[in-house]
Amino acid sequence: MADNKIKFEELLEANRKLKEEVDSLRLKAQNTAGHGLSGNTYAADNSDSIIKDILDTISSYLAIFRVSGDNRIILLDLNEKAEDVESVRKTEIKGQYIGDTPLGKRINLVELIHRVNKTGIAKKTTVSVKNDDSEGYYIGLKLTSGYILITWEPGLLQKSEDDLLRQSLVFEKFAEMLPEMIYEVDLKGRVQYGNTHGLKFFGYTKEDIAKGLHLSEVFPQNYAKMVENLQGLTSPEQISSNEYVAKRKDGSEVPILTHSFAIFHHDRIVGYRGVVTDITRHKNYENQINREKAFLEHLIDSIPEAVVIIDCDGKITKINKEFADLFGYTPEEAFEKNIDDLIVPEELKDEAVSIETLAEEKHKVIRQTIRQDKKGNLIHVSLIATKIQVNNEIVSFVGIYRDISLERKNQTIQEILYNISTAALNQMDIKDIYPTIVKELSKIWDTNNFFIALYDKKSDTLSMPFFSDEIDKFENVPARQTITKWVISMKKPVLLKLNDLKDLENSGDIALVGTPCKIWMGVPLKADKEIIGVMALQDYHNENKFSQDDVNVLEFIANQVAIAIQRRTMIDNVILASRKAEEAAQSKQQFMSTMSHEIRTPLNEVIGITNLLLQGNPREDQMDFIKTLRFSGNHLLTLVNDVLDYNKMESGKIVFEQARFNLDDFLKDIMRTYSFRSKSKNLEFDIVKDTRLPSEVTGDSIRLNQILSNLLSNALKFTQRGSIHVILKELERSDKITKIEFQVKDTGIGIPNDKHDIIFDSFTQASPDTTRHFGGTGLGLAICKKLVELQGGIIDLESEPGKGSTFRFVLTFGMPEKSDKIPSNEVSESYSGLEGKKILVAEDNKINFFVANKFLTGWGVVVTHAENGKVALDILEKEDFDLIIMDLHMPVMDGIEATRVIRKSDNPRISNIPVVALTAA
Ligand code: ADP
Repeated sequence: MADNKIKFEELLEANRKLKEEVDSLRLKAQNTAGHGLSGNTYAADNSDSIIKDILDTISSYLAIFRVSGDNRIILLDLNEKAEDVESVRKTEIKGQYIGDTPLGKRINLVELIHRVNKTGIAKKTTVSVKNDDSEGYYIGLKLTSGYILITWEPGLLQKSEDDLLRQSLVFEKFAEMLPEMIYEVDLKGRVQYGNTHGLKFFGYTKEDIAKGLHLSEVFPQNYAKMVENLQGLTSPEQISSNEYVAKRKDGSEVPILTHSFAIFHHDRIVGYRGVVTDITRHKNYENQINREKAFLEHLIDSIPEAVVIIDCDGKITKINKEFADLFGYTPEEAFEKNIDDLIVPEELKDEAVSIETLAEEKHKVIRQTIRQDKKGNLIHVSLIATKIQVNNEIVSFVGIYRDISLERKNQTIQEILYNISTAALNQMDIKDIYPTIVKELSKIWDTNNFFIALYDKKSDTLSMPFFSDEIDKFENVPARQTITKWVISMKKPVLLKLNDLKDLENSGDIALVGTPCKIWMGVPLKADKEIIGVMALQDYHNENKFSQDDVNVLEFIANQVAIAIQRRTMIDNVILASRKAEEAAQSKQQFMSTMSHEIRTPLNEVIGITNLLLQGNPREDQMDFIKTLRFSGNHLLTLVNDVLDYNKMESGKIVFEQARFNLDDFLKDIMRTYSFRSKSKNLEFDIVKDTRLPSEVTGDSIRLNQILSNLLSNALKFTQRGSIHVILKELERSDKITKIEFQVKDTGIGIPNDKHDIIFDSFTQASPDTTRHFGGTGLGLAICKKLVELQGGIIDLESEPGKGSTFRFVLTFGMPEKSDKIPSNEVSESYSGLEGKKILVAEDNKINFFVANKFLTGWGVVVTHAENGKVALDILEKEDFDLIIMDLHMPVMDGIEATRVIRKSDNPRISNIPVVALTAA
């Protein structure tokens, strides 16, 4: 289009030049004539050649004369225009006396030449002798060469015809040169001219025009419109630009654009000219652009985000529907407005500008910010600002807004829920979570009037673990007829305004207490379908303070709170239960140790007395009873000791010693003990030891003895014939440790496969009649397993009924350093040296004292008895003793306290006496 316009302007320019050329010549001539310019001045450097040039180039009338000495006028030359005007032929008259040419009849001309020649002053005169302008004017001037130059200026009549023709010619000349299609029509719509390019385009020829071509043929569809448009042209400057559909000669139609202007002549329009442009391509582009535009507009409108397009000055050029909905402006209201003025809150103006500046630099700017809608409501939005560039030039910006208020609210709600749940889990006391709930809820609501009421079904009362109110105060209230109770019975959230509350009161459902509020929002706390209370918010001033949305959120939070409360309660219950279980375990422990103590004390006495009886040479008939008594006593003692041991292990109170001992000596002791017992049952017994085994190890020899003794006792018990072997193998060795496998192998009754695991449980035996046949309690293996496992070892067995059993356990022992000393295990079994020694026995239990006294006096000891610690201290003040045997549990003052006093005594005689503690536990 721009090109067309320029070309069209060229055309106008050509018209203008043409006019100028004519006018300037005319002006010069007039000036020369009117102002009396001297001929010398006019052509200072004239020469023949210059004159010739002038004649050839100037298209206005020019004729050159010379006045001869005899005052005769010779026509020297004249140009084409002069030939035309005078209707002469240059060749016929050139060089002749004027009187011999038709010009000689021009009386005024002849007179003018003489006059100018004489005066040398340029002069203008009419051609007609009537002195009117009907034939125009001659203007004469004398050149420096003495020649007289005559030019001619048409009169009004000639001038108009001349101009018109000249203009048409120039116009057509230009028109042919232009690549545009040019046309001319007369007032009746007849095509006067079409340039070659134009004719070709429409399929016509010059002959067609000569024959007559009417516009209505070329524009059958738009002729009326075209006439109207052309008639609208009323001044020379006016141009009418129109699009039409033209019909070619071959009948095909083509869209064109015309720029037309009127041809004025004598202030009258004599026809129209114009430029025609083929806009087929342009139309196609336009259609394509329109399609794309429509597509884009549809796209922008269907985007679920608010989209705005602004120009480089920040003015809105387009908004989509979503934008209109979000910010409340219609497209008309938003159009051409500055985006910042429209939706940016005052305090964020700077930020908005910074985003725009950033968007100019970067491809995309993403921000979370706040904008405001038409009503001034603030909206949290996420904003994406991008620039649109065409040929590296920013042409506009696109802003995409997404309302994230809800997202933010949800995020806050999530945070609130998380914090409440965490607090519920972390707080030891359920009461401590309420401040957190309030603190969290205050992030979204005003919690000045907020309470949590817990409902106690049994007493039908409400307790308020949290209550905050600007006006009223409640703590524990009967639930009956309260709005809270009503919510509990309704089992659903409510949002009540003052009128609703009054209605409820009038219907008798509730009895309002306290100051009436404008709005009340309450939700039940549901835990496991049971309603444990209500959480409520109210407001005394604004009845629109809460919406249904708020109720939903509160309900959601209430569910979490209820779960948290319930979870907390459950945790509290678990803690309570485990505390109780611990206490129960402790009391069981206490009970067991007390019982064992209580049983072992008299049992020791029974065994002790039985031993005394045996020493006292009983009668033959009494002997059996006493032996049975001793056997039963020992059996009972083993049982009690086992129970006590197992109990200790269960409670983790057992500590394993890490002492160096001689493995060979240890095995010899075992051999000694069990070879005798096996022999009495006619069983073969041996201990096979891997020769690589170290002779000394570090570990707990007493516990190892206990494990082996248990297994060997069982082997002896359950084997009637055959053999019992103890086999030791070293599995692993390093500088620090040795891993030893112990096997106790018998050829006894064996154990069925399905019992292999359970016999290691406490109080279980392989068969129900075991106790009847073999005795036992079912604790031995359980103890063995515990002792092995607590030392990091393993125990298992291989056995088949009738084929014997092999119990296997693996324990790791330390390898002693060379320098470690073996503690002396040697215990003197000799009692010699005790005779005459003075021993104070502090013991409240008479039987215990009786037994001790019997043994001690038997060994020749002088025994003194004290009933408790206090008495012992008194006796010590008065007498000297070699040793004190002190029972730990005694009334008045126990053994520990008494020993402490003894050790602290200022009297070295007392403080240095050895004290042996005596306890049945
Ligand atoms: P107790 O021997 O006091 O019954 P234990 O825990 O020592 O208790 O043994 C549990 C049960 O395992 C025994 O009652 C017996 O049924 C079975 N048992 C243990 N050792 C052997 C063995 N060497 N041969 C056969 N059965 C055995």
